[in-house]
Amino acid sequence: MAVLEILEVPHPGLRAVAKPVATVDDSVRTIVSDMFDTMYDARGIGLAATQVAIEQRIVVIDLQETEGEGEDAKPVRKPLVFINPELLSVSDELSVYAEGCLSIPEQYADVERPARCRAAWLDEQGVRQEGDMDGLMATALQHEIDHLNGVLFIDHISKLKRDMLMKKLTKMRKAG
Ligand code: ZN
Repeated sequence: MAVLEILEVPHPGLRAVAKPVATVDDSVRTIVSDMFDTMYDARGIGLAATQVAIEQRIVVIDLQETEGEGEDAKPVRKPLVFINPELLSVSDELSVYAEGCLSIPEQYADVERPARCRAAWLDEQGVRQEGDMDGLMATALQHEIDHLNGVLFIDHISKLKRDMLMKKLTKMRKAG
């Protein structure tokens, strides 16, 4: 178990473009395991290696959606690993989610992205996978692939909204 330090804006490391993983070996699987520890510890639903200063194209996601109803309702862990993920196609139809990011603590903004996407990636065994995503999963994967390219969700909103959000973050940090 290793909880890694998460880079926060404006750390320049968040702007790095990550390199493809050449071989999915034990060292990559250790990174994946540490990334899950870090993501769950921070109560996130996704994390890109870029956010923990590892410049490799690795993403972990677990939406931890609630299953069951009433008193039986509880979030269920479904850890998903995406190595060298790429978008094969995206829908013309867009959807809006209030996105947040572990690298921009406690700040949220509506971001418009393609509602559905088809992606390809390598799993933890290095086997190529392909799949169609929609809903929050489509948004989460696109958000995390952005990280691998040095792009943050605040890059998708207007300068006015971005400035306001950064001001709120600065204020929050000063308040401790
Ligand atoms: Zn993020």
